[in-house]
Amino acid sequence: MAKDTKIYISYNQVHQLVKDSVERYRINDDFKPDLMIAIGGGGFIPARILRTFLKRAINKNIPIQAIGLSLYEDLVSYPNPLNDNTSSDSTDDSTATIGTQVIKTQWLHFGPSHATTSPLLGKNILIVDEVDDTRTTLAYAVQELTKDVEEEKRKFLQENPGYTDIDVPETKFAVFVLHNKKKEKRMELPDPSIIKEGRYFAARETPDRWLVYPWEASDIEEHTRKSLIQQQEELQ
Ligand code: 5GP
Repeated sequence: MAKDTKIYISYNQVHQLVKDSVERYRINDDFKPDLMIAIGGGGFIPARILRTFLKRAINKNIPIQAIGLSLYEDLVSYPNPLNDNTSSDSTDDSTATIGTQVIKTQWLHFGPSHATTSPLLGKNILIVDEVDDTRTTLAYAVQELTKDVEEEKRKFLQENPGYTDIDVPETKFAVFVLHNKKKEKRMELPDPSIIKEGRYFAARETPDRWLVYPWEASDIEEHTRKSLIQQQEELQ
């Protein structure tokens, strides 16, 4: 039988990874998030566990907003520039290429308790996902959230005549993932300060193998057993 190349992650590992990285990256002392934005569905459980280890400001839990993004890898046909367009057979005329498209399936929604027009301005926002594979999803999330911040800035300046750019409260993004796959990334984060200023928190760096998370398991006992065997093998 072929060797199972997947890596099985247990709930206990997830919990411990989150706890250890909050300490290792000094997230409570340095970044101090005001808000988490969890990318669904993989970011939901890590965000909830993070909340257990993040210090509360004025006795209030750190709010978690949920966003949904879907990554589609389509086979797209592009015209083949080497063809002279005289052919009547359209199949001769194109070449198949992998295209990547991300779509929003769910976006931010602030309830009545956030009755402000700028819920993102002046906030330290921690974007949470389970895994950074090609970085496409995270890059798209940062890009779209930055657009939302820009829109809030625009409204803020409109509502506060006489204020200039430097008066607008600064919003900072950070990224938390359980696993970062060590590989060449397809995309870079559109806000380079996240990596440059040490606001990219990966609990673990992993080889480019498929990770199976406990919330995906149909048989959690079997999943946990496989995870424990792999952890023991790693210690040998
Ligand atoms: P990206 O390539 O954009 O970094 O990752 C896209 C999404 O693919 C991730 O948010 C995650 O849901 C899924 N994904 C990528 N690699 C893995 C993996 O090893 N295991 C699981 N369970 N999901 C993955």
